[in-house]
Amino acid sequence: MSLNLIFLGPPGAGKGTVAQAVIEKYNLFQISTGDLVREEVKKETTLGKEIENIINSGKLVNDDLISLMLETKLKQIIESKKYNGIILDGFPRTIPQADKLDEILKKINQKLDGVIYIESSEENIVKRLNGRWTCQKCKKVYNSLTIPEKNKGFCDDDNEKLIQRDDDKEETIRKRYQTFIEKTMPLIEYYSKKGLLKKYDGNVAPKQSIEKAIEKIEEIKNKK
Ligand code: AMP
Repeated sequence: MSLNLIFLGPPGAGKGTVAQAVIEKYNLFQISTGDLVREEVKKETTLGKEIENIINSGKLVNDDLISLMLETKLKQIIESKKYNGIILDGFPRTIPQADKLDEILKKINQKLDGVIYIESSEENIVKRLNGRWTCQKCKKVYNSLTIPEKNKGFCDDDNEKLIQRDDDKEETIRKRYQTFIEKTMPLIEYYSKKGLLKKYDGNVAPKQSIEKAIEKIEEIKNKK
């Protein structure tokens, strides 16, 4: 039986780190729309340049465009391997995206099983994102405060160089947090009304956050 989950939360709440830690356990595939847009930016196309400006201003990419990117990625996954479910990290971020997700899942005969909301305070987020470094190859995330790499500046797994995201500057972080409050917070009530929402306090160390997420995933699985 497949399992389709959304990880919801402000930027820096730990969605990506927790998703990376649990996908193997549950044999799921993680889709980060943030990674998808950063891949587009890397291509240096006209669209990529437009997107780069949006990301660095802390705003959101257009709903139709991001939904299309998600749908394309999902199709690729379904074609390339046995589908056992997904963790959506960073999508949906608006109500229209949530509606679009329902349509996309319906097309592939799937449904959403649960939404895990990782709560985090603005100050904690600023502190965390300022210390965040990512492997440019495998996308593994490190943090100089909480999960430092063994060999400074290089990934533990593939020894590739770690890079810091341009949008992880304090001013942009605060704008991204505001965008979350304005555009994404309405999803909390939206999914709560549907009986799909589980939340936990993510102002904790990564290890504890992963344990709490697993508890919530088990609750969602048991309800199926
Ligand atoms: P993230 O890595 O999830 O923090 O995403 C980085 C940036 O990509 C965001 O600040 C947005 O500009 C853009 N982005 C990622 N996911 C979405 C989405 N679902 N809707 C709109 N914009 C997105």
